[in-house]
Formats: sequence, structure tokens, C-alpha cells
Amino acid sequence: MIKALLGILVSILAVTFLRAVMGLLVKGAKEALQPEETATTAGRSAAPESGTRLRKCGACGTFAPETRMLRHSTREADVFYCSKECEKQAKA
Ligand SMILES: [Zn+2]
Repeated sequence: MIKALLGILVSILAVTFLRAVMGLLVKGAKEALQPEETATTAGRSAAPESGTRLRKCGACGTFAPETRMLRHSTREADVFYCSKECEKQAKA
């Protein structure tokens, strides 16, 4: 009788454990699939920010995010360079 009760308890625990594991797996799978969606929506919302604006290199013409570029403020306008090499090239 006790063995039967233990068997039932074990099976109940096993089922609840399996359900928890399955729930975590489903959650993990959903989270694994979602980042693409959230990344694109986050990218869209972040795009208007001035820090992520694309700037053209004054020497080679490569476009790169403003935050990664070297800024040179002149009287006329701000000039951006993608690298120190381009900065040197423009100065030479
Ligand atoms: Zn450049």
C-alpha cells in the first residue's frame, strides 16, 4: 500500500518536473526566436538617435556610424574620418 502511494507520488512529482522542464524549454525556445524581433524593433526605435547616424568619411567616402568616426569641426561644417589613416590623408 505504501509502495503504491509512493509510486503515485513519484509519478506526480515526475509529471510536474517534466512540465516545469517543458515549460522552461518552450520559454527558452521562444526567447531564442524572439531576439530577432526585439532587435529589429529596438533598432528602429534607436535609429533616430543622433549617435547612430551614418557619416561619410571625408577622405575615402566610407559611411560609418558617427560614434565610431573621428570628428573634425571646421568653420564651415563638421568633417568625419573613418580612421586615423584617413585623417592623415586628408591633412596631407
Ligand atoms: Zn576613410
